Amino acid sequence: MAVETLFSKIIQGEIPADIVFQDDLVTAFRDINPAAPTHILIVPNKIIPTAADVLPEDEQAMGRLFTVARKLAEQEGIDQSGYRLVVNCKEDGRQEVMHLHMHLYGGRDLGSPLLRNAK
Ligand code: 5GP
Repeated sequence: MAVETLFSKIIQGEIPADIVFQDDLVTAFRDINPAAPTHILIVPNKIIPTAADVLPEDEQAMGRLFTVARKLAEQEGIDQSGYRLVVNCKEDGRQEVMHLHMHLYGGRDLGSPLLRNAK
């Protein structure tokens, strides 16, 4: 059994969140500390800790992250202006919650994707 995570508790309704989409494979909810006018987290219902733990059997859920991102971008009205999809992985990727998730950012010019001055 995978260890419960903050996000698995949100998925199961044990912790409140602004859920914008849920189906059999993924759940999407608004980030509690948004970095852009639209900032939604799209999370597989299965507890997969990081991108480094994805298995072949997870391919359907991983694909669903993208189709739900597309649908939500349309709902948010950012599909024409554009948006950014990000999956952070482990320490160097600055992943904070160890339950794989895709960030959907949009609603403003998001700037350069890399911190080019960071050492
Ligand atoms: P990471 O750095 O792991 O890729 O991103 C974790 C994200 O989860 C952060 O953007 C953070 O604001 C968000 N977050 C952390 N705790 C909560 C919470 O309790 N509820 C919601 N909706 N988002 C959270």
